[in-house]
Amino acid sequence: MKICFATHNQNKAKEIRQLLPEGFELITLDDLGQTEEIPEDGLTIEENSGIKANYVFEKFNVACFADDTGLEVKALNGEPGVYSARYAGEPKDNEANIDLLLKNLESKSDRSAAFKTVITFIDESGRSMQFTGIAPGQIIQERTGAEGFGYDPVFLPAGHQKTFAQMTAEEKNAISHRGLAFRKFLDHLTKTAQA
Ligand code: IMP
Repeated sequence: MKICFATHNQNKAKEIRQLLPEGFELITLDDLGQTEEIPEDGLTIEENSGIKANYVFEKFNVACFADDTGLEVKALNGEPGVYSARYAGEPKDNEANIDLLLKNLESKSDRSAAFKTVITFIDESGRSMQFTGIAPGQIIQERTGAEGFGYDPVFLPAGHQKTFAQMTAEEKNAISHRGLAFRKFLDHLTKTAQA
């Protein structure tokens, strides 16, 4: 069965392709000729994930899934949330985003936060399901570590002594929001494939 990952990111696609159960062929937006960005105008991570998957299903009528991720900081009422990629404005700038986050947290004592990934899967008959992965932790005062991307240098996952940016990709993947959400989704696909 063909299944489309609503992404242009070939690295993400390659990673997932290796984990898909037998019988699934993973394609991406490029394979469907979808070069335009899909509008993401939802107010929540759940909504944006759903918007992307619905767009692909309605336009191409193919089983598909989309992921959306954000960092939710408690003392900032869940910000940056859906605005994580562009928290400090256009163009997208990870360093400016971290600077703004640290500035907005300067006066706050509660620095708890969580990354959340929501995957929306729509099967070939149009049935929609969501799989969520949450990684709780703290925003630390200063950047630490050089791996990863985005907010990784200031995110200390709960129960660990290293930031996401001090972990190898394997270490991060074992506990990350994205890793958790994808394992739930892949479990579901494996069960359906066996049924
Ligand atoms: P996306 O939905 O995967 O494109 O993620 C949106 C934004 O959230 C990214 O541009 C990053 O700023 C942030 N983000 C997502 N995942 C991670 C992560 O694993 N570590 C750090 N930042 C992340």
